[in-house]
Formats: sequence, structure tokens, C-alpha cells
Amino acid sequence: MTEVISELTLSPIGVVNSPYKEKFAIPRQPGLVNSAKGTIKLLGDVNNIESVRGLTQFSHIWLLFVFHGSQEHGWKPLVKPPRLGGNKKIGVLATRSTFRPNPIGMSVVKLDKVQVIKQEVILHISGLDLLDKTPIIDIKPYVPYSDSVPNANAGFAQTEPQLNLTVEFSKQAQSTLLTLKQELPELALFIKQVLSQDPRPAYKQNKTDKKIYGMILYNLNIQWQMLAATNIEVIQINRIEGSC
Ligand code: SAH
Repeated sequence: MTEVISELTLSPIGVVNSPYKEKFAIPRQPGLVNSAKGTIKLLGDVNNIESVRGLTQFSHIWLLFVFHGSQEHGWKPLVKPPRLGGNKKIGVLATRSTFRPNPIGMSVVKLDKVQVIKQEVILHISGLDLLDKTPIIDIKPYVPYSDSVPNANAGFAQTEPQLNLTVEFSKQAQSTLLTLKQELPELALFIKQVLSQDPRPAYKQNKTDKKIYGMILYNLNIQWQMLAATNIEVIQINRIEGSC
């Protein structure tokens, strides 16, 4: 009889380059912001085009990753998921909380293309919900006949959240968008999709407030405010100097 494993060591097989540079404003699941685009750079022995031979037959892939940005906070058996308004407790294993016994996340993302640049295998993905520099511990093809269960019950998370927020841009924001048109052609759509998820704490949903929020996407500091309960204005978009 073999022993029960009590510890295991995993090494990242890849690292994510994401427009989400901080946790605030990252969508709460993949696919909600389909204009989010990122890449995965394969690492070590896995950085070999043979490791991904055949992968582009699949439009979507599973990513298993480490919640490296919240790992040190540990976990508790009960958590308050945002979908329950952030004020009801439920077992951690009944949620997709980032604070888990093992800090492992899983996301289905769209695989747009695979590239080799200077001997580095790069996977281009979209719809990600991942923080920049997220360590990837495995990649597998998404197989709809088995991975998708259309009639499954999903309790408090049965359907995609319906928020119906509208987003508008101030004059300053519009002119900055114009100057960034070449570099980031889909930026306006991306900002709109991110904000229409309402990144504020769950208890504020469907409520207005006067606070000016800041979020970082790419190398941009984006300031926005609620104009009404269902209406957001992007006030300013500023490049963060010295970053790339
Ligand atoms: N789809 C995954 C993650 C859901 S939680 C799963 O179900 O396992 C999504 C949240 O994870 C995002 O809102 C973001 O704030 C957080 N997140 C994404 N990447 C992270 C990382 N590397 N470290 C910590 N938190 C991360």
C-alpha cells in the first residue's frame, strides 16, 4: 500500500501577462469581460513548442493557477461571496473564493493563438480573470461534451450577474482614448466591460456613491465615479510613468 501524500511541490509551467495589474476591478469570473487580452509565457522544460502541439484545435483552454496575490492571507472555512451581497457566509468549498485551503484557481479562457518569439512559447488568451504575473500550474484543453453541463444547478451563481450599468467617458478620457488608439485599439470597450461589472464592494451594487475610484489597466491609471445608481463616468485616464 502506498502512503497518503501529505505534501506536494508544484512548479509553475507558465506565467501570465495580464492587463489587470492589481486585484481591484478584475472580473469575478473568466468570460465576463471578453475584451480582456493577455498572454502566457511557458517556462522551463515546458517552454517547448512540442508541449502545445495540437492545442490550437481547441478554442478554449483550462488554466490552473496559483492565487499568488492573496496566498499569504490564508483561509477560513466560511466566506462571504460577493454574489450573496457580501454579507452571508457559506463554506469556502461551496464558493470560488480566492482564499482557499490550497490557493489554486481555475479559469476557462479563449485561446486566440500560439506564437514562438525568440524561443519563447507564448499563448495569447482572452476573457481572462487573472492578475498580472499569475503562476500557471497546468493548462488543459476545454472539452465541451464533458466540461459543460448545461442543466446543472448552480445555487446562488446560477446565471451571470445582471448589472445593466452604462459607462460614459469625460472629454479628457475621450481624448486620451484617441491618443491610445494605435497602441490599444479596444481600450474603450475593455474599460466599459470592466466597469459594467461594477468592481465596487458587493454591498454597493445598485447604489450610487460619491467616491472617485481608481483602477489600473495596462499602464494606465483610470479614475471613475458613479453618476447615478446605474451610470458610471470615466473621469480621467492617465499613463503611469516609468511602467511598461
Ligand atoms: N476563475 C477562478 C477565479 C475566480 S475568483 C476560479 O474560479 O478559481 C476571481 C478573482 O480572483 C478576481 O476577481 C481576482 O481579484 C482574483 N485573482 C485573479 N488572479 C489572482 C491571483 N493571481 N492572485 C490573487 N487573486 C487573483
